[in-house]
Amino acid sequence: MRRHSHLLTSLILVIVACSHAPPPQTATVVQQGTRVDPGYSINAAELRRDLFIFADDSFRGRETGTADAQRAAAFLARRVQQLGLEPAGDSLYMQRVPLVRQTFGRATQFTVSLAGGRAQTLRLGGDVAPVISLGEDMPEPRRSADGDLVFVGYGPIDDAEAAELTRFDLAGRVIVALHGAPAKATKEHAKRLLSQQALGARIGHLMAFRPSAIVLLMAGAAVEQYDQLSPELLRSVALEGHAGVASDTTRQLPMLLLGVAKQGSPLLPTGWPNDAAPQQLGKQLSAHIEIDRVPFTGYNVAAVVRGHDPRLNKTYLAYGAHYDHIGVIHTDGRRSGRRAAVDSIANGADDDGSGSVALLAIAQQMMIYRPRRSVLFVWHVGEEKGMLGSAYFTSHPTVPIDSIVTQFNADMIGRNESNSVALIGPRAAPNYQSWRLGMIVDSVNRAYPTPLHIERASDDPDDPEHIYQRSDHYNYAKKGIPIIFFTSGLHADYHRVTDEASKIDYDKLARVSRLMLEAGLAVANRSSRPTSEMLTESISSRQP
Ligand SMILES: [Zn+2]
Repeated sequence: MRRHSHLLTSLILVIVACSHAPPPQTATVVQQGTRVDPGYSINAAELRRDLFIFADDSFRGRETGTADAQRAAAFLARRVQQLGLEPAGDSLYMQRVPLVRQTFGRATQFTVSLAGGRAQTLRLGGDVAPVISLGEDMPEPRRSADGDLVFVGYGPIDDAEAAELTRFDLAGRVIVALHGAPAKATKEHAKRLLSQQALGARIGHLMAFRPSAIVLLMAGAAVEQYDQLSPELLRSVALEGHAGVASDTTRQLPMLLLGVAKQGSPLLPTGWPNDAAPQQLGKQLSAHIEIDRVPFTGYNVAAVVRGHDPRLNKTYLAYGAHYDHIGVIHTDGRRSGRRAAVDSIANGADDDGSGSVALLAIAQQMMIYRPRRSVLFVWHVGEEKGMLGSAYFTSHPTVPIDSIVTQFNADMIGRNESNSVALIGPRAAPNYQSWRLGMIVDSVNRAYPTPLHIERASDDPDDPEHIYQRSDHYNYAKKGIPIIFFTSGLHADYHRVTDEASKIDYDKLARVSRLMLEAGLAVANRSSRPTSEMLTESISSRQP
């Protein structure tokens, strides 16, 4: 699952206002799914065997753009070939995904001019990390900025504080703001300053001043956010041809720089942290970002189990997971001062090794059951870099996009309570487009002697963790396809080197995989698409 940054989300929320309608009140009876004899179905031992291979150190965390990810793709392709699935990529089982690695060019520099003609250079990464993109379809931050530095402290987080700052005439200036809380703040005050609402308000007010750049420095408890985010900002990957082709004349946002508030920084008042009052700093920042884009090819792995009904087998039930993870990372001991851990490989056993091996097991069963519709399996690349593989697949689908009747995404399905799984989509997806599909999955689950407990708290467009937007199904949902995101949720090992195969609950992984299989059979054997009657004509006219 993709990392969620309150910081970047606040930026995005400020720029895009989202609205969602409440779910409909009517219930609809859904036909029973095809029951699968558990004796012949997915078993925990096989999932365990596969995941111990797939999340082994030899794959080195499967980071997109490395030979390790290519090996993981080749492993999956070999397995689906052995199972006898049809190739559904553009090069047999592989779909080539044109990607670019974005690195900072030599011309990148951040210089603060001090009094007396002296200058101080800020280090990329060590002092500041630029946000060069907020995602596809989003306005881009500018890459050049020059202006007088104005420090605005921890604000403005309300209209009154924003009004006070108008005296600085902030248009075209470089604004330095703190995110965090002063050491002497009360618990309530600190909580308020650190909240996502305060962050969103702060960014919204600052954007409205039309500055040339915004420098957001993390202080206190917020410093951890910089530690987590900066490696991703510095090791970014994008789809070729999408980002970075604009020039600054068309970029609408001010330059966005993140950093850490350090005593003595030229971006802060001399007396900071004792002096945190808004003030002109009497210095200028001159910043230029140059991005070198090095093209490379990533691979989605795609395969089909052909359906047996000639009237329906040109339509597809799609299963997705992502095989990439975050690779080799800094150990947790680095900043906390503990002895550095020996392990630096983030194996991503749960994220998303669990979904990847579940799809292999489901594919094996689908070859036996051969439902009426065809079943498409896509293991996506680049999910952790911004859901790139699924963005590419849904814009360059290897089967007509309208022929995909459902997408089931499995991302992190092997941890937490043994009897519980979250289904995201029925409430969170717009236009009720996943509502009926949710009822199909529920009805299959309810028919079990001991049903799984379905967790629904995260199935909410206003979920503070924004789970609905954080994995590959989101790109399918954007095309109007009914989706369900199956996940057992976040945990303490998420995006850490401790997300290991030994920590997976394999009985649970098998149960969730079986639910995905049987709900899939129910969808793939139905004559009608699992769209809701409230949907617009454009979707219902695509039937069957
Ligand atoms: Zn992840």
